[in-house]
Amino acid sequence: MKTENKIKFIALGGAEEIGASCFYLNIDGTGILLDCGIHPQRKGFDALPRFELLDELDLDYVIISHAHQDHIGALPFLIKKFPHAKILATPQTIEVAILTLHNSVRILSEVDEDMLVYTHEEVDLLLQCAFDIKYEEEFYLKGLRHSSSEPIKLRFYDAGHIIGSASILLEYLHERILYTGDIKLSKQFLMNGAILPGERITTLITESTYGNTPSEAIGNLRSEISRFVTRANSILSSGGSILIPVFALGKMQEILWMIHSQIVNGRLTNVPIFTGGLANKILKIYDKNRYVVNYTSSENVLSDINTFNYFELNDFHKVRKNPCIVIASSGMMLPNTSSNRFAKFWLTQNNFAIFIVGYMDDQTPGSQVANAKKGDLLENFSSETQVVKCDIERFYFPTHSNRNELIQLAHRLNPGRILLIHGDDNAKQWIGENCMNTLQGVRINSVNVGQRIII
Ligand SMILES: [Zn+2]
Ligand SMILES: [Zn+2]
Repeated sequence: MKTENKIKFIALGGAEEIGASCFYLNIDGTGILLDCGIHPQRKGFDALPRFELLDELDLDYVIISHAHQDHIGALPFLIKKFPHAKILATPQTIEVAILTLHNSVRILSEVDEDMLVYTHEEVDLLLQCAFDIKYEEEFYLKGLRHSSSEPIKLRFYDAGHIIGSASILLEYLHERILYTGDIKLSKQFLMNGAILPGERITTLITESTYGNTPSEAIGNLRSEISRFVTRANSILSSGGSILIPVFALGKMQEILWMIHSQIVNGRLTNVPIFTGGLANKILKIYDKNRYVVNYTSSENVLSDINTFNYFELNDFHKVRKNPCIVIASSGMMLPNTSSNRFAKFWLTQNNFAIFIVGYMDDQTPGSQVANAKKGDLLENFSSETQVVKCDIERFYFPTHSNRNELIQLAHRLNPGRILLIHGDDNAKQWIGENCMNTLQGVRINSVNVGQRIII
C-alpha cells in the first residue's frame, strides 16, 4: 500500500524563528502536534502558535520534545480547546514541566493581565493525564479517524540538549519521520550528546538555530573553558565579582557543573557560588535522572556542590568585599528577574564583570548588555541612562548543535526530504544549500508558518 499524499504537515509556529514551536502532522487520519510552545518575547495571544490553523483538523496526540517554554508553554491553552488530546513526553520532561508550567502561571498572571491565564489546577490536571514514555521505548498511536489497521510507531531518542529532551521518531509503513526538537550532537558538561536512530530516515524535520553562525565563531569547548577561566581569575583576583545570566533550565546546570569542575581541578579561584530559584529545583531532577539519561558521568551530582542562595544576598555591597560568582536567571535579563536586578548593581562597579554565556533575543535587556562594552551608555536598561562600568564578556557554551553538526546529522540520517524549522531564513538557507550540494536527490523545504506540505 502506498502512503503518498497521506501525510500532511503544517507549521503553526516556530518555523522561521525561535518562537512558539508547534507543528501539525496528519498521518493517515491520525492528528499529531509536535510541540506546543509559547513565544518568550511576545505578549498575550500573539505569543501563542496559530491554533486557528487546527480548525477543521483532527487532533489526537500532542508530543512534546522538551520542557523549554518555546516548546511546551502553550500546552495549557491548547488543552482547553482539545481536552481529549493525549499528551506524550519523556518522564523527565513531564517532571520538569510540572515545575516550569506552575512557574509560568505565576509569571503570566503578574505581567500579562490581558491573557486568558490558566490556573495551577489546570496544570496539575493536564500533567496528571500525560503519558510518560522512556527513551527508545515503543509506543503505538492510532487516532480516532486512523484509516488503516497499521498503527504509527513512536520512539523518543535522547537529543542531548537538556534533561529529558528528545528527538521524536514516527514510523508508519515505509515512512520514518524524525523531528529533532532542539538537538545537541556533541557533548556538553553534563549532557553527553544526542543519540540518533540507527536506520535511514525518510523525512527529517530539523532545527536550524545556528545555521547562520560559522562554527568557528562558536569555538570549541576546551578553548572556551580556558578563556572563561583566565578571564574569571583576572576579575576575581582584582576583587571583582562575576554575574552570569542563564536560563533556569539547562544552561544553569551545565554552567554550574563547569565552574565546579574548574574549581575542583584547581584552575579556577575558589570563591562562593550563588544560585537560586527555579534552577535549584530543576537541578534535583538532573541529579535524580543521571543514571537514565545520556549523561557524561553518573558520578556528576549537582546537589553536592556547595552553593549559596542569592535570595539571601540582600546587601549587594557585601559582594564588593568578598568576590563571588552569581549564576542567576533569567538568561535574557528580562525585567523583574534576579539577573536583571543584579545587573543594575554590577553595571555600576568598576572591577566587576558580566559573563554572557547563552543566546540573547534582540530587543531584550540582555541583548543590550551583551552588545555593550565598558564606557558605553545604556539607555533603556535602568530608569536612568547608565554608563557601563563593569566588563562584559561573551562565551559560547551552546546547548544546540553548531551548523557543521547539523550537516553531519543530515548525512548520518540520509533523508529523502528535509523540512527546515526553528531558525531564521539565512540560517535555514545555509543548511538547505549545504544539504542540497552534498546529499544526493534530497528535497528541501524551508518551512513557513501556515504552509501545508504533503510528505
Ligand atoms: Zn530548547
Ligand atoms: Zn527551542
